[in-house]
Amino acid sequence: MTVPKDMTPKDQPTCRDRFDLRVELLTPLHIGAGVENSETDSPILTSGNQPVVPGSTIKGLFRSASESLAHVIPQASLGSLKASCHLNGGGCGQDDDFKKKWRQSVTAECRWHLLNEHLCATCRLYGSANWSSKIRFFDSHLDDMKRSIRDGVAIDRESGTASDGLKYDYEIVHPHQSFTISFEVHDADNLDKLLVALAIGYLRRGHMRIGGMTSRGLGTVRLVEDCSTWRHLDLADRNQSIAYFLGDEKEIKASPISDFLQSVGREPENGEETGR
Ligand SMILES: [Zn+2]
Repeated sequence: MTVPKDMTPKDQPTCRDRFDLRVELLTPLHIGAGVENSETDSPILTSGNQPVVPGSTIKGLFRSASESLAHVIPQASLGSLKASCHLNGGGCGQDDDFKKKWRQSVTAECRWHLLNEHLCATCRLYGSANWSSKIRFFDSHLDDMKRSIRDGVAIDRESGTASDGLKYDYEIVHPHQSFTISFEVHDADNLDKLLVALAIGYLRRGHMRIGGMTSRGLGTVRLVEDCSTWRHLDLADRNQSIAYFLGDEKEIKASPISDFLQSVGREPENGEETGR
């Protein structure tokens, strides 16, 4: 019962927040393609022979970071919402009370309000079984980044120790190179922005690990703050709207990511909207 966009009270998004975050690999990166080739047992995932990090992988990591940190948000910022539903299992909107209210809500608008009131903060932003995500991540292309093949030690699953005689190798992207993580949020309110800022904070501290073998320390990335930007696109503004839909959003002035993080952290002025 995913809510189609045409069921929501707003037919068109009124704004987009676009983020282009430059991140540096602090340790080697391995995202397995899943099939061996003639050169290695475990090549990295590529697109057009260049390494790629799928947007869905990054979205999962951002969701997980926002979710785990959402519990530190003061309840006043959450209103009547839960921070996240991952602790009570099943996800939002799976309980009998909600399903009964859903059946009783006959109009699209009633259902939109029902979902908006019953979803946890994390599902409102990242989506759930019955709610479209407000955030969209793009694939990161790691074009021309240096990579090589490394020898590995196969681990015996039973004993957890190195297996004698089992050699294998895997491909890595070298550390100390950087790439860009890009995503957009549509119609973000202050709570959505706060959840995004928490995930960016996680990245800023170098706590995010991408890809496989992260338990061995691979895939650690850290935000390169000076090279990371935020663009707020007002789609009610004719020029910005046309630039956006023509794919020229880079023509719209970018602000340093620190401006975004500071704007989220600051107290609202008197009379300013406080959030939801
Ligand atoms: Zn939820």
